[in-house]
Amino acid sequence: MNKTHQKPLSRKRLGIMGGTFDPIHYGHLVAAEMARNEFALERVIFIPTGIPPHKRGRKITCSEYRYAMVSLAIADNELFDISRIELDRMGLTYTVDTLRLMQEQYSDFELYFITGADAFREIFTWHNPNEVLALTQFIGASRPGFDADTFLKRIQQEYPEFYARMHSLEVPALAISSTDIRARVKKGQSIRYLLPEPVRLYIKEKGLYRD
Ligand code: NAP
Repeated sequence: MNKTHQKPLSRKRLGIMGGTFDPIHYGHLVAAEMARNEFALERVIFIPTGIPPHKRGRKITCSEYRYAMVSLAIADNELFDISRIELDRMGLTYTVDTLRLMQEQYSDFELYFITGADAFREIFTWHNPNEVLALTQFIGASRPGFDADTFLKRIQQEYPEFYARMHSLEVPALAISSTDIRARVKKGQSIRYLLPEPVRLYIKEKGLYRD
């Protein structure tokens, strides 16, 4: 058969899980796995943020500790990977720069950027949002109670050109939050079962989040 008459295969899909991961917890892992499953992603690459522009002046755990915790958390899933792409870049971390590099590196793939729905809601305040949404489909993983429908209706009215590229995914496990975990450690409370055990032990060993 003449190749030009063959129906083109749809592109393979790659998930990019962006977050500060301070620390990573089961909510993030379940969100990545649900997104992989629902959007037929071949793999998911976790990208811990370097210096996020919207967090200037806020205390964030050193990037090497966050990188180590993500590595420990995903070690038992062969379809999850981690990238240092944002950690090794100097200066503020803009998602658009990351996506340009990822698109170059994975040119055969259609990208799906996964992050929390709160961050997703702020997308139009990001650096170059139009280019971000041209480079990737966007999945907002929401905690129970997040009103994704109202947000998506607003997108449909105000940014109809992007509506089809923005998806919401409700993840009940996102009732777990990094903020809560940090607060628990500070108060000396248990964080067992909120995150993978090797991550809990790492936090203990390094004395993270105590003050
Ligand atoms: P954040 O403001 O710390 O988090 C917002 C909310 O989303 C929090 O409730 C957080 O819960 C949750 N969340 C964060 N990452 C998640 C994930 N991968 N899966 C599920 N829930 C997640 O957000 P952030 O971590 O700093 O930023 C998220 C991503 O957006 C990063 O890749 C960041 O670089 C990007 N971003 C880019 C720009 C820009 O380019 N200008 C601006 C803002 C954000 P937990 O606290 O439990 O994680």
